[in-house]
Amino acid sequence: MRLRLKDNVKKNIYLGLVFLILFLIAIFSIKSIVTMVKQKNNIEYKLEKHGYSEDDVKILVKNFNEKELDNLLNKKANKNITKFIKEKYYLKKNLDKYLTYYENNMDLTPTLVVALINTRSNEDWYTNPKDADTSKNNLLLVNKFNGLKEDYEPVLIDVSNWYSYGENNKLTEETYNAFKDMFNAAKADGLKIIATSCYRAYASQKRIYDTDVYQYGEEVTNESVAKPGFSEHQTGLAIDVLAPGTALSNFHETEEYQWLLNNAHLYGFILRYPEDKTNITGYAYESWHYRYVGKEVAKFIHENNITFDEYYAYYIAK
Ligand SMILES: [Zn+2]
Repeated sequence: MRLRLKDNVKKNIYLGLVFLILFLIAIFSIKSIVTMVKQKNNIEYKLEKHGYSEDDVKILVKNFNEKELDNLLNKKANKNITKFIKEKYYLKKNLDKYLTYYENNMDLTPTLVVALINTRSNEDWYTNPKDADTSKNNLLLVNKFNGLKEDYEPVLIDVSNWYSYGENNKLTEETYNAFKDMFNAAKADGLKIIATSCYRAYASQKRIYDTDVYQYGEEVTNESVAKPGFSEHQTGLAIDVLAPGTALSNFHETEEYQWLLNNAHLYGFILRYPEDKTNITGYAYESWHYRYVGKEVAKFIHENNITFDEYYAYYIAK
């Protein structure tokens, strides 16, 4: 009797152990099946299967929401997407345009494609122009896609002939004060930077434009002269400068120009139409045209070697 009882206990323990092992195996199998199913539904897994690299997937998951990631799975994998996301001035709203433009212009760098699309410079000049946002004050953008109304006139003050050449030069007060500081700093270095053309009303711009179109034709004129309403001179924030004894056309040969290249930003001014950015600004190189944007923005634009158009698209309009 005792022995049998002992045998029974042994038997039950064995059975218990067998059940426990079976139970553990079952749990383990269910768990791995669940993991497998989960992994198959996992977006990272799907994107990799779809043709994106592990690094690309990380970037995509970080930058897109669930719906956008799902959309990627409905299209052929496009490895250019992450090239653009990595760009410093990448704007998500422009991604499709970057991709299309890049496919048709593979000789361009993604950096240039981003700059062109963000500023709309890939489009024909003056296509669907917007009203310039005059609430932006010193950061008012006027270019070939953003124009001012005929009656727009900022609050202006007269520029003294001590600082300027020609009659009736006017600027906004802040621009004028900054220019005076710059003028004095250059003077201390033995140089003379003279303001020549400052504020220009819509009507005067129209006269200049019409005369040039009459003389040289519209296409040539558009490269250097703004249509009325699209001139930065109407903002009161722009100044054409000269050095003693020079004309606008050879200002780039002067010491004053070199000085401005190194120092203008310290006073809040930028060279608005640089030589290597004509495809973005839409203007031929103008070594004499300076635009006031304030010290902070001028420093940023100077240090990052971008145009005001690019700065505006990325930091202000987005
Ligand atoms: Zn100018």
